[in-house]
Amino acid sequence: MPARIAGRNFLFVPGPTNVPERVQRAMMVAMEDHRSSKFPELSTSVLHDLKGVFKTATGQVFIFPSSGTGGWEAGLTNTLSPGDKLLAARFGQFSHLWIDMAQRLGYDVQIVDVEWGEGVPLERYAEALRADKRHEIRGVLACHNETATGVTSDIAGVRRALDASHHPALLFVDAVSSLASIDFRMDDWGVDLAVSGSQKGLMLPAGLGILGVSQKALALTADAKSRRCYFDLADMIKANATGYFPYTPALPMLYGLRESLNIILEEGLDTIFFRHHYLAEGVRAAIATGWHLKLCAKEPKWYSDTVSAVVVPEGINAAHVVDVAFRRYNLALGAGLSKVAGKVFRIGHLGDLNELMLMGAIAGAEMAMQDVGIKVTAGSGVAAASQYWRSHDPVPRKKVSREEQFYESHSTGSIHG
Ligand code: PLP
Repeated sequence: MPARIAGRNFLFVPGPTNVPERVQRAMMVAMEDHRSSKFPELSTSVLHDLKGVFKTATGQVFIFPSSGTGGWEAGLTNTLSPGDKLLAARFGQFSHLWIDMAQRLGYDVQIVDVEWGEGVPLERYAEALRADKRHEIRGVLACHNETATGVTSDIAGVRRALDASHHPALLFVDAVSSLASIDFRMDDWGVDLAVSGSQKGLMLPAGLGILGVSQKALALTADAKSRRCYFDLADMIKANATGYFPYTPALPMLYGLRESLNIILEEGLDTIFFRHHYLAEGVRAAIATGWHLKLCAKEPKWYSDTVSAVVVPEGINAAHVVDVAFRRYNLALGAGLSKVAGKVFRIGHLGDLNELMLMGAIAGAEMAMQDVGIKVTAGSGVAAASQYWRSHDPVPRKKVSREEQFYESHSTGSIHG
């Protein structure tokens, strides 16, 4: 079938997400001198406001021209030495790739394999930490939101497991598909190193790897022997101190980031988290009540508010649903990756979204499923989502002013508490 020309493409992969027009316009800038005396206004303001998004008052934020994967590498190589031991759970393609990188960089990873559809196994982490009497584990890896399976893990629980055994290991968190869309609290949860990227909750194109680093982790960088150059935090700290970067920064991305932070500031983080949950619940209603299909996430406690991985019936190839949706209806759904390839398709519900945009994704997925022979009733997903959204509030009832939420998060590291 020839590519569709008229109308817009409906982008519902779980990142890159829709870039708001305001952000697109903010990125349409002429190039300028990144060593001018004016440039630090932009860089210091985005670095400052990102701290509020990470909910850290004490940590430092870093922006690298890379993607989330570069953020992983920066995080590991700046804080560890070759041979260092790490504890990590593997339950999806991204937790797998992070472990793979750690192994290729020469760390000794104690892998806890978990069924795909579940998340970080707190009890098994606690057990491993208790057993590590000599504190050989230097870092614990936790993927907050496994984008491949639509599973969110309990990071506060990982912190409790570390604290319960008085374990000094660093807590590394992948917040690539959770930051700015699912509640993430760097200081409250004692996260030492959080990694994110620009193309998900921050509503930008891919191109920035963003890190939140605790003072504890920063203190370890001097002794970390892993080889690094481009990603060396020391160079970045030195340059950022005066508002500059150690190399030519991605200017349009920084202007876009400024505007996306303005949008986040206007909506307020709590309202954003609430909206993501509310939209996700509507999608889940479409899947379970409308289509009578299952999520890859095994239990409600794992359900992700940013992405739903839908399991297709036996005998159907989920890749066909994705392909028909794309070619016939101009709808981009996320494909199943690795172990769940062909078994699931994913609906991303994060970033700049509302109910009716998601209705397009639900209706398109419904049509594509029918086209490939899945027995779903036309309109059933749309009806179930509509029923959910019409009977629930789209914003929190008790409204804290947006500015109050954002600035409180800057000063205390938590807008909750
Ligand atoms: N971690 C998670 C949870 C992701 O979803 C992704 C990408 O989708 C990555 C890491 C890798 O990020 P990037 O593709 O920006 O390098």
